[in-house]
Amino acid sequence: MRTPIKAAVLGKAGEPLELAEVLLDEPADHEVLVRTERVGLCHSDLHYITGSLPIPTPAILGHEVAGLVERVGAAVTRVAPGDRVVATVTPACGLCRSCLRGRPTQCMRVDQVRARPRPKVVTRDGEEVQVLGGIGAFAEAFLAGEASLAVVPSNVPPHVACLLGCCVSTGVGAVVHGAHVTPDDTVAVIGCGGVGIAAIQGARLAGARRIVAVDAVAGKLEIARRFGATDAVLAGPDTVAVRTLLQDLMPDGFTHTVEAVGRRQTAELAFDVLAPTGTATILGLMPPGERLSIPADALVYGDRVLRGAYMGANRFLTDVEMFTDHYVAGRLDLDAMVTGEVPFEHVNEGFAAMSDPATIRIVVDVTRESA
Ligand SMILES: [Zn+2]
Ligand SMILES: [Zn+2]
Repeated sequence: MRTPIKAAVLGKAGEPLELAEVLLDEPADHEVLVRTERVGLCHSDLHYITGSLPIPTPAILGHEVAGLVERVGAAVTRVAPGDRVVATVTPACGLCRSCLRGRPTQCMRVDQVRARPRPKVVTRDGEEVQVLGGIGAFAEAFLAGEASLAVVPSNVPPHVACLLGCCVSTGVGAVVHGAHVTPDDTVAVIGCGGVGIAAIQGARLAGARRIVAVDAVAGKLEIARRFGATDAVLAGPDTVAVRTLLQDLMPDGFTHTVEAVGRRQTAELAFDVLAPTGTATILGLMPPGERLSIPADALVYGDRVLRGAYMGANRFLTDVEMFTDHYVAGRLDLDAMVTGEVPFEHVNEGFAAMSDPATIRIVVDVTRESA
């Protein structure tokens, strides 16, 4: 028996999401049915809506989510009905070479972990509806494998808990697990949206001695200072000028840079301003086929590193415990990252509001229908 639920469906890239009734399957043995509470609006969702990243349609986007466990499959042991959970798009098997080497976001068996015999969601006509990242959270409820879910304590409210699933995992994870930032490090964070602000907070948690925020919008830089940036650089359209500003600020170069924009130019800038032995960590998703160009002599003579850290190279199930403890202790400010909340039926307006410079994260209240 499938359960009818309301979902915001992407019918075709370039079109707004449409609220429609779809049918959600029962949880398989290893799955959990989660009643959605709050969903953060992430730039990757926006990329799929505009078509700058491809996804088959119809599709339910939404992956930065907190909700309450409603029903569990027969084999589920880690979560129980009533638990508040957050989800990740990178479930891990725990058994493959990547998992065993402490790199669960690169699990080599993620397809098997997500596999199930039937589509999770279908339309009234029986057509399969894709669910982004094996989640599809712009819906009243969703199915996720047990490996995708972490329980959060009840003193972490859902509107901030949802951030743990994507922007906090990615930004803080990149600094802590990807870059291993220490108190002797100088860190430039390029792009001060949700992921960038989380990276700045991660650098502050890690004790970096300088944290330089870089953004094209002056208002974002003011916000970044409130989250721990020690310096700020306003990036104009000319990347050469930005590079000069960063080189003036840190003539020896940065020991770490974090790119949280998802553009070739900013990724190359992240490498160009590194000190010898420095590491540029690229977080932003770029269109398929994009290539980066870096100076080979700076790479080889300077022992510099250019690396990715998909989803912050996080270790979700233990990271959520780390994040919640730092949040409860007041060291990780999640409340101020939520700059707006919209009811479910205004999800498209929420995406439109992402271009407002004062926006860090907008959260959809899926339990609320109108303002
Ligand atoms: Zn995301
Ligand atoms: Zn694995």
